[in-house]
Amino acid sequence: MAVGHQPNLKTLNLDAVGVRYTNEGILVDSYGRTNIPNIWAIGDCIGHPFYIHSAEHQARAVLSSFLNPFFKYKLDNQSMPRITFTDPEVASIELSENDAKDKYGTVATYVVLFSSIYRAITTVRTDGFAKIMARKWSCHIFGATLVGEGAGELLSEISTAMYIKIPLRKLANFIHHYPSYSLVIRHAADLWIKQTILPLYKKIFK
Ligand SMILES: Cc1cc2nc3c(=O)[nH]c(=O)nc-3n(C[C@H](O)[C@H](O)[C@H](O)COP(=O)(O)OP(=O)(O)OC[C@H]3O[C@@H](n4cnc5c(N)ncnc54)[C@H](O)[C@@H]3O)c2cc1C
Repeated sequence: MAVGHQPNLKTLNLDAVGVRYTNEGILVDSYGRTNIPNIWAIGDCIGHPFYIHSAEHQARAVLSSFLNPFFKYKLDNQSMPRITFTDPEVASIELSENDAKDKYGTVATYVVLFSSIYRAITTVRTDGFAKIMARKWSCHIFGATLVGEGAGELLSEISTAMYIKIPLRKLANFIHHYPSYSLVIRHAADLWIKQTILPLYKKIFK
């Protein structure tokens, strides 16, 4: 059961120092600075997203800003992975298929079922899929949704690719060890050739 949660700022007595806040949390700029000089805020108290990895990432950004007098680090400089620890796990990052279509219009969607992955077959964990949305030709990743055994672990490959701007098609060139669940990502990357490039070749050379 998910009941949701929100920041509890009552005991902090923020009014005493004049730090601005709303019911959603303490108001900060993109670097974590409040309206009062030398008071910074991170984590659940500044509102959504409520994740440990989000709070930790924000802490690292603020600490880096403190340590580097010449550069300020933004709290939200990368996409936030989301995992729901159901069985099977549900993991996603950035845009869903519908959101990607609303935002970019034409979107290539590459879907691979866990039932086609040998590791999933041998462990009888065939429920699930990997769905990766990308720009059609450049293969720039817009987002991904993974459902299945270890989906949360598999998402790291996508979030790393998004952070360092590796297009999905290039993930097809990385060796993914056999027989691992990670092949679901390799197969999704292979679909760029099958679904996007081969039909074009067929059109040109028919
Ligand atoms: C049941 C539950 C399950 C969760 N599961 C996950 C999960 O699986 N994965 C995930 O990423 N996130 C999960 N979260 C969310 C995650 O716990 C929070 O997003 C994360 O802990 C936020 O870190 P934080 O440092 O901002 O706040 P907190 O971890 O809440 O730390 C705040 C600290 O400040 C202290 N404090 C409060 N008021 C004062 C005061 N006046 N003076 C001094 N100290 C004070 C508190 O005691 C606490 O130690 C879960 C949350 C809940 C409630």
